Amino acid sequence: MGKTLLKLGIHSVRDFILYFPRAHEDRRTLPMIRELTLNKPTAFIGIVQSVTEERRKNNLHVINAIIQDAQGMVTAVWYNQKFLSKILIPGARLLLRGKLEQNSFTHQPHFICQDVESLLTAEDLRHSTRCIVPIYALTYGLYAAKMRQIAHSVLIPDYLRDFRDPLPESLKQQLSLMSFQDALYQMHFPSSPERGIHARQRLVFDELFVFQLALAQKRFEHHQQPTRFQLQGEGPFTRAYLQNLPYTLTLAQQRVIQEIARNVGDAHAMNRLLQGDVGSGKTDVALMALLMAVQSQKKGALLAPTQILAEQHYAKCMQRLQPLGIPIHLLTGASRSRERKEIHAALSSDIPMIIIGTHALLEEPVKIPNLAVAVIDEQHRFGVLQRSTLRQKEYHPHCLFMTATPIPRSFLLTAFGDLDKSILDEMPPGRHPINTLYAKPKYQEAVWQHCEKRLQKGEQLFVVYPLIEESRTLDLSSALEGQAQLQQRFPNYQIGLIHGRMKASEKTDIMTRFREKKCHVLVATTVIEVGIDIPNATMMVIMDAERFGLSQLHQLRGRIGRGKVASVCTLIATPKNENARKRIAAMLETTDGFRLSEIDLKIRGPGDVLGTRQAGLPEFKLADLVEDAAILKVARKAAFHLIKYDPTLQNTAHIGLKHMLIRSHGWGLTQRLD
Ligand code: ADP
Ligand code: MG
Repeated sequence: MGKTLLKLGIHSVRDFILYFPRAHEDRRTLPMIRELTLNKPTAFIGIVQSVTEERRKNNLHVINAIIQDAQGMVTAVWYNQKFLSKILIPGARLLLRGKLEQNSFTHQPHFICQDVESLLTAEDLRHSTRCIVPIYALTYGLYAAKMRQIAHSVLIPDYLRDFRDPLPESLKQQLSLMSFQDALYQMHFPSSPERGIHARQRLVFDELFVFQLALAQKRFEHHQQPTRFQLQGEGPFTRAYLQNLPYTLTLAQQRVIQEIARNVGDAHAMNRLLQGDVGSGKTDVALMALLMAVQSQKKGALLAPTQILAEQHYAKCMQRLQPLGIPIHLLTGASRSRERKEIHAALSSDIPMIIIGTHALLEEPVKIPNLAVAVIDEQHRFGVLQRSTLRQKEYHPHCLFMTATPIPRSFLLTAFGDLDKSILDEMPPGRHPINTLYAKPKYQEAVWQHCEKRLQKGEQLFVVYPLIEESRTLDLSSALEGQAQLQQRFPNYQIGLIHGRMKASEKTDIMTRFREKKCHVLVATTVIEVGIDIPNATMMVIMDAERFGLSQLHQLRGRIGRGKVASVCTLIATPKNENARKRIAAMLETTDGFRLSEIDLKIRGPGDVLGTRQAGLPEFKLADLVEDAAILKVARKAAFHLIKYDPTLQNTAHIGLKHMLIRSHGWGLTQRLD
């Protein structure tokens, strides 16, 4: 028996108590055989009277057993479950779960059995009926009744006493939480469905609460950490930048810039997450933050996840900031080694400057003294580790993490729970909504005709092909073919191609040509997914759109709709399954990134949406961030409140919490949460 339990990861009584049932079944009242109704899933108890086995055509193995109780009998049927003949012996008492159905040949009702438990002893009978019964995940050789028997033998006060309640009494009372030991017991043997729910709520609370404690402490530590950089939020450069800007900032942009200015003027390092949908104008906010460093005689760095995006930011900086006389440097993986050395030398000087880069910036030999502001664009594209490297560089620069991926609230409160947050909830004025269309591949020609008319007016077009890592060559060939076909279809226009496997200089080249309208149609793989900003590109056609994820489609579509002319995005797709259809339908329904992320959450489930590990989320044993959002809210409030009064958990009432925190998240805090 010990061995079979080991297979379930149960090494001790303690492990068993924490091995919660996967479900419960309410067996407080079970029907008699004569009370069974047709086609309704149910369970009942009976005694085996006789058994017949036969092998039919197609190798189908059938067991028929007559089952009897005090008032009636029924034939129960099992298909291809030969191994059950061991327990189906005349005289055996069984609990059968399944459905009474009409036999299509004999027209007699028979019971199609899904599941059977044998109840040999009076004890089995007591444990498995007339109560709410735990259903455990089992393993070969371990029967349900046996498992329940063990559960009854370990869930006793003697053993439960070993589990000290980590929560202070006052908190439990205030939030009407069940005691820890009761909760453990009720998780296995709930005395009523409601008590079962309360038990789970209590344990979910613990999980979320301890995690929030860790976050609250981390935030507390950040706020304790002095920065060497108290910067001028307003000054000559920020003022000049705003004056030279061809438009006025939206109120949302202004508000966020003020929030940042307040942070960087403070004695503690800024740690802020900026959320803004694609096209909401995050770049201006980023540049303003960098200027706050420069006008205080310090350096500011902007990190982009791709070379193309870094170059675009560099170009924008050159255009807008060079007139102010600010030195600007670009460092990417594509920088040549001689050039690199020069840049390294420049970065290690004391001159105030702006540095734009990819993760090459984070790599070792680069020293950046006086780095006062670091902005991380499209932060979700960076690994958690890379993010933390940056934070550790040089006396805690003020950090601004920007993201266009809308993060559902409950994730925000966990994965990014230690950061301050800003939201750009307003789009720049004068944008026309993007019109999104869907076409089957056979109607492509109509799409190209429409594009042609607009190309004639000088507008530009992206045509995107999917590129999925595993079959890179194949996908690349479809983009290459696409380019050739489009060149035939549009002989009067230049058709460019960009993909991830091109050399850095080639990428730069083609992007420049497209930006300068020397090339009119850009065939691309998803390398253009993030950040690219070319307002004159007003059309996008996404080929094989069913192969893209929803957030990817949204990001891609965000490349257009940035200018004064109404943009159109056409999805050419052959959706082959329900989820693909749902994604396409969602894209046609809305351009609101937040709404799309909610739909995505429904389609894919929370784990996949953000890439749990990437986001730094712990794996909870019971808690579900979507279902348990309400508990999360309470736990967060309680945790932050507690840390405010007892930041290092010195109070004797908090000893249990301190232990729980050390066990779950390490003390002095988690590296995992960058
Ligand atoms: P994102 O948030 O996706 O990074 P960008 O910063 O690239 O968005 O801005 C998208 C486009 O909107 C750019 O062409 C930018 O110049 C323009 N833009 C930004 N702010 C405003 C504004 N307040 N008024 C008009 N246009 C703006
Ligand atoms: Mg951007």
